[in-house]
Amino acid sequence: MPRSYDSPLQLLPYPGGKRFAFTIIDDTDAATLESVRPVYEYLHSLGLRTTKTVWAIEPESPPSDPRDAGDTLERAEYADYIRLLRSRGFEIALHNVSAGNNTRTRIESGMERFRQVLGEYPAINVHHEKNRENVYFDFAQTGGERPPLFQTALLRRLHRVVRPNGRPAAASAHACVGQDERSPYFWGDLCRTRIKYVRTNVFFRDLNTIKCNPWMPYSSPHTPFVRHWFDSSNGQDAECFNAILSQPNIQALKDECGCSILYTHFGKGFVQDGKGGPDLNPETKRRLQVIAGDADGWYATAGEILDRLLAFQRLAVLPLEAGAAIANRNPFDVDSVTLRARPGCVYCDAAGGAVAADPRGLIVLPGLAAGRAVVLLRQEACNALRPWHQRSGHPVRLDVETLARKFTGWRKEQSHGAAPAIPLVTSMVAPTAAMAQSTGNSGVTRD
Ligand SMILES: [Zn+2]
Repeated sequence: MPRSYDSPLQLLPYPGGKRFAFTIIDDTDAATLESVRPVYEYLHSLGLRTTKTVWAIEPESPPSDPRDAGDTLERAEYADYIRLLRSRGFEIALHNVSAGNNTRTRIESGMERFRQVLGEYPAINVHHEKNRENVYFDFAQTGGERPPLFQTALLRRLHRVVRPNGRPAAASAHACVGQDERSPYFWGDLCRTRIKYVRTNVFFRDLNTIKCNPWMPYSSPHTPFVRHWFDSSNGQDAECFNAILSQPNIQALKDECGCSILYTHFGKGFVQDGKGGPDLNPETKRRLQVIAGDADGWYATAGEILDRLLAFQRLAVLPLEAGAAIANRNPFDVDSVTLRARPGCVYCDAAGGAVAADPRGLIVLPGLAAGRAVVLLRQEACNALRPWHQRSGHPVRLDVETLARKFTGWRKEQSHGAAPAIPLVTSMVAPTAAMAQSTGNSGVTRD
């Protein structure tokens, strides 16, 4: 009688056996060196590495709105501090090149200023307000067509009341034209070549961002000048930030093995006068202490997290009766792959190597080489087949090879010439030479 193995293997997109991810993306509205330095010193003291947006140049005319008043990379002390943050592992992103509307000429000089200060162009841009040069602003306001927008006024009104996760029902009016090649504000081509991720204006009320949009980061054929979009969770001011970082929300993020990209404005009311001078408010300190320093947490920048999520969109898990085949369809190696299984379950690979899920139910593979697949099967399944094999060779290896052929159909795929077959990695234990040479925390190259 066939035996059933109730032990699905599940990929987690976090490296090294981490179970959840947390980062912050800070909109630089109203932020000065003095108003945000206490926040960043505190984040650094907790070992959090987050993403800070900056303005590269001063706006063309003096700002009338306080949100538009803030330091830019033209202030030397601020630029020095931004470089210090970068050296500490924080990511520096762009919040358009300035707080005012920017023509293409100003965008080019602002991006060069960014590169002079930081050595490279930013990987992320976050739209500021309704700057004329914002690209595909209709799309950005609603996050595309998932879920579809309501077409009738009645349902739009109803949706505004219910608002699942804060997703807007319709876009508001604007004059943004950054994608229009006839406009002096056009910079779509520069956005495409220099910026990898653009934030939508969609806020989720759930701390677990990826739960609200599992497609992140995503592209659309309707927005070709944006390579990838991403959404975020709503912590836009100190009150929202402290509320969304509640103990139950943090616990849910961990229980759900979630991924949080929390959007905020650290320049807006986070810092208060303390005994020793301006300091981060005690409530935010307490909330950050709760989420930081967990051995299960992956505390990386937004760019690193999005790179990893993007790479994992091209890792395929094919469930098998007694395990799974995991294929890396990326043109690059992905290192330190975390799998979730039942605690203590032992899996074998095609070379007979065995690995056991730890007490948390996690297995960490050293990595998956570009274009390769690995098959992992429960040890009991291999043992059950052993008597049928009298051939020479390592019995476990023979069993796993047999099962791999039975279940995966790789050979069949090859003989029919339909899709190119993925070569099977025989051993999960020893990384390939190419992987041993690979560097970087996430093991993911930028495209
Ligand atoms: Zn802004």
